[in-house]
Amino acid sequence: MSAASTEHEPSVVTLPAIECAPWCLDGHGHPDAPFPEDQVCRGETVQVPLTRAPLVEVGTDEWEREQLHFYLLRHAGAHMTTVEMYRGDLGETVSLTVDEAQALGEALLEAARRARA
Ligand SMILES: [Zn+2]
Repeated sequence: MSAASTEHEPSVVTLPAIECAPWCLDGHGHPDAPFPEDQVCRGETVQVPLTRAPLVEVGTDEWEREQLHFYLLRHAGAHMTTVEMYRGDLGETVSLTVDEAQALGEALLEAARRARA
């Protein structure tokens, strides 16, 4: 064993980096994930406050308006990206394909346009 290798901390076994999606918050291939199935690309979470929903306690004496959240997700080895959407912190997640998310987004925009007409 060389002197150089004994001067370092015991090496941590890492996985080969995957190719991250361009929108992945990690962007470095998740080599520190414990298992290949944990090498998941996740995008930034977008939050939309639900202005008519009651306040929810998020900490000691800390209250926030409930929100709708969504983010992009791509599992390791998967060629399909999904849009994961959920309400609140414990809400059921709805997993949409990109086409479904686009259809939903266009339908919501159309509904908002109609409502404001
Ligand atoms: Zn990634």
